[in-house]
Amino acid sequence: MNKKTVRDVDVDGKRVFLRADLNVPLEDGHVTDDARIRASLPTIVYLLERGARVILASHLGRPRGKVNDALRLKPVADRLSELLGRPVRITGDALGPGVQVAISRLRAGDLLMLENLRFHAAEEANDGDFARALAGMADLYVDDAFGSAHRAHASTEGITHHLPSVAGLLLEREVDALSRLLGSPRQPFHTVVGGAKVSGKLEVIEALLDRCRAILVGGGMANTFLAARGVPLGKSLVEADQLENARRIMSLAEEKTVTFLLPTDAVVAPQIHHRAKAQVVPITEVPRDQMVVDIGPATVAAYAKRLGKAKTVFWNGPMGVFEMSQFAAGTNAIARFLADRARHGATVVVGGGDSVAAVDRLGLTDLLTHVSTGGGASLEFVEGRQLPGVAALDDRDGTSA
Ligand code: ADP
Ligand code: MG
Repeated sequence: MNKKTVRDVDVDGKRVFLRADLNVPLEDGHVTDDARIRASLPTIVYLLERGARVILASHLGRPRGKVNDALRLKPVADRLSELLGRPVRITGDALGPGVQVAISRLRAGDLLMLENLRFHAAEEANDGDFARALAGMADLYVDDAFGSAHRAHASTEGITHHLPSVAGLLLEREVDALSRLLGSPRQPFHTVVGGAKVSGKLEVIEALLDRCRAILVGGGMANTFLAARGVPLGKSLVEADQLENARRIMSLAEEKTVTFLLPTDAVVAPQIHHRAKAQVVPITEVPRDQMVVDIGPATVAAYAKRLGKAKTVFWNGPMGVFEMSQFAAGTNAIARFLADRARHGATVVVGGGDSVAAVDRLGLTDLLTHVSTGGGASLEFVEGRQLPGVAALDDRDGTSA
């Protein structure tokens, strides 16, 4: 990475404003998936062990600028405390006299967590005064919030105008791993794309047409492409306003001689319900009163065959409604196959909240080359866009703010 990292600066005794992405799912006041907290540990521990006075900040959910007791960071602090094996204190507000006092009492190797930054509308508005106030708490800014790096908010961008600003270890690892998909990835480079929202992902596919040899489409995503080719899909999820766009992407793929694969069979069901009666049909025979909920076994076999030759694979979006076990076979098969390819030396990178959850649930995360903690951020990065949270950090050869 061409940005300075925590390893390039002296943190001993310094007050460090550490922005992490601790935006985790909660249920009844408990963290249900702590992957993002665990991913943030290396930088937290690195700073504490080197005598930094760490001020840890994150957002949680979408409180839209108002205090919302259900979105307080206490459950996150509790989980972090278990993982660190030490108490984690949290402030009542991200800003204010109480915070000043707490910070003034921090000693080397101490950690203080700020309350949810998004209780202040100024955070998402990237308000200059708010950014200055955050910066005023510290001597150094460390950004480890890769999952928020595609947003120019006060704690990810504004703050960098007032402090020396460097990357944390997670952000560095994300950027380095995802960078392997830009420039000149090892060929053949194939992309597997699925999930529900076509509109949000067409730009990524378009950008990848210049770098990939093959695009393999599954999930709800495939429906829109199939519909654009005139395949009737019953009650399936189709983004009707994207048909023209889908056609354009497919002819672009043809022009650039990129193989564009769509499912040839599917699992269908009358509704998305865990007890719905499911069956496998050829893609041209989806009954009028049924919907596509997964790719079928012939499609899995064809995709596996193609992916078996890949040296680089990027995967975003599940192949079906994987949250329900009876519609998860396609997603699970692709995940297992890709883990196997990675074990045989292929570079396999997975990005996207739900795809990552699917891989995690199968316990395959450690087998893959890289599993990104950033959904939207990983997509924008792979698309080749500059992430404001990364761009704002100090350059390795440049000077600091
Ligand atoms: P990611 O978070 O990995 O980027 P998305 O958010 O785009 O993925 O899509 C994930 C969602 O897509 C899941 O909730 C899954 O149930 C849904 N999905 C996948 N295939 C289908 C389908 N055929 N019909 C409806 N929903 C689908
Ligand atoms: Mg998602």
